[in-house]
Amino acid sequence: MESEQGDLKNALERLADNPAPRAAVIGWPVEHSRSPLIHTSWLKRYGLNGSYDRLAVPIDKAEETFRNFPETRLIGANVTIPFKEVAFQACDVVDEIGKTLKAVNTVWLENGQLHGTNTDMYGFLANLDDQSPGWDERKRHAVIIGAGGAARACVYGMIQRGFQIVSVINRTLERGEELSADFGDSVKAFGFEDLALRLKNADILVNTTSLGMHGQPPLQVPLTSAPGHMVVCDIVYVPLKTPLLRDARMQGFRTVDGLGMLLHQAVPGFELWYGVRPQVDTRLRGLVLKDLGLKS
Ligand code: NAP
Repeated sequence: MESEQGDLKNALERLADNPAPRAAVIGWPVEHSRSPLIHTSWLKRYGLNGSYDRLAVPIDKAEETFRNFPETRLIGANVTIPFKEVAFQACDVVDEIGKTLKAVNTVWLENGQLHGTNTDMYGFLANLDDQSPGWDERKRHAVIIGAGGAARACVYGMIQRGFQIVSVINRTLERGEELSADFGDSVKAFGFEDLALRLKNADILVNTTSLGMHGQPPLQVPLTSAPGHMVVCDIVYVPLKTPLLRDARMQGFRTVDGLGMLLHQAVPGFELWYGVRPQVDTRLRGLVLKDLGLKS
């Protein structure tokens, strides 16, 4: 533990030595995060004087780090696993989205106070708009598989876009019911045994579980029950074409992969910290795909 805390002290000293506006991704661990690649590529592209680093904070130091955020000398940060809830609790001000999702992934200092929001919903919707324009022309019924943190952002996104019914399918029914209870009558929870029936009049299907991710079993979905206009989105992006997306594509459904959600969720933070609204384009997508060792 001593060396972990020494590492944190060194990382903070290193950050303090840099005079330009500094942001970072804070998590434990953070080596896997692609946020530095995304933000530094934008800083370079827009010719901005700033930096973006990784800050690995031991679990027992997380709350203190957010409560004393000015000591990090950062102007803001992305917050990743497992600190999104700790950051939510520690922020002085949390916006409506952060409160609804009970987690923040983006923080910034304003008048000495730490503000927090959650940009996952923005990233999720912007990716759908980008990859499948008109995906929300029909707003009757969305089926979301999973009931974790990411599902919460996707469910809220569907409500924001005016979907009449959102069905949440989860392995652990109680967790699905807890989520649906937070969003009112239009959100209902079901087990996997109800999936085929729920798909019969679905306009969009979204996988938010880790199933289908590299090293995980595939997600089995009875796609033949669904209408042909249904859009299929998988927020898992390793591999880019998950077994669900491959099946859906083979059966003629419109599909949307999850990489764009990762890219778009970074946009609001960059604009807050460095003052320029950055573009998500094929160049950035290619850069991150290459870094992940993925084929487009
Ligand atoms: P989480 O809070 O841990 O939730 C995990 C969800 O997956 C739960 O609903 C869980 O069901 C379900 N699950 C896990 N293993 C399962 C299995 N074997 N069978 C059935 N269900 C299973 O995780 P999260 O933060 O929501 O993230 C979920 C996934 O989304 C991850 O793969 C993550 O990488 C991805 N994600 C992508 C983006 C992006 O930018 N594209 C952003 C955020 C997350 P139970 O409740 O029954 O355990």
